[in-house]
Amino acid sequence: MYIDTHCHLDFKNYDEDREIVIQRAIKSDIQAIITIGTNIETSKMAIKLAENYASVFAAVGIHPTDCLQTTDEHLETIEELSKHEKVVAIGEVGLDYYHMKATKEKQQSIFRKQIDLAVRQNLPLIIHNRDSHDDIYDIITTSSSSKVGGVMHSFSGDMDFLEKILLTNLHVSFTGNITFKKSNNTPLVERSPIQQLLLETDSPFLTPTPLRGKRNEPAFLVHTAKKIAEIKNLDVNEVGYVTTENAKKLFRLNV
Ligand SMILES: [Zn+2]
Repeated sequence: MYIDTHCHLDFKNYDEDREIVIQRAIKSDIQAIITIGTNIETSKMAIKLAENYASVFAAVGIHPTDCLQTTDEHLETIEELSKHEKVVAIGEVGLDYYHMKATKEKQQSIFRKQIDLAVRQNLPLIIHNRDSHDDIYDIITTSSSSKVGGVMHSFSGDMDFLEKILLTNLHVSFTGNITFKKSNNTPLVERSPIQQLLLETDSPFLTPTPLRGKRNEPAFLVHTAKKIAEIKNLDVNEVGYVTTENAKKLFRLNV
């Protein structure tokens, strides 16, 4: 059993066959899927999908590349959406200095406000970080985010940054990119304790080897799990079991 803790099932990449993709995941030992909002519209779509499938859950939030026009009113809408019974996290939220769609100050302000929102609603955080390690770390450690915990999703950064994150109560997750030939994530996966790891596909992106070139989907998660098992010298079933328990506990999943 595996849990895909991060994918975007609402994306139009799945418009033709969304139902089949979800059924294929269920048949491929995926016990639960968390589909992630990136703005108000996609957060609403995530909830709709979660309402339709017992094993699909939703996260709601404003992504840092989507926060340019975000107002306090928008955040109130996110907070209202977060009260839905199938919403299990606030995300994805964070900082993205690679795409830089809004100023650093704006991104930081929206991130901090969504951390406060998560704490008020007692929901864990799904954090996006791209080229913003120092500021992410600063905000995590100077806010009350440790009260709710969460996950540093699609982990990127060097060993020093990983060491700092592992000392917080955040989980870390790696995507299909750890299966790529040129991946330099192997030492990071090796260093991350299995008790602090989650699995994710980040579908429709980052399709794992040997399926590269295809659209990614939750059913492909096993390839990433196998790679983690190989790196950590564990049985793939153990990787599945422990990361599933980690996800169930963090997101309080009823599956
Ligand atoms: Zn994502």
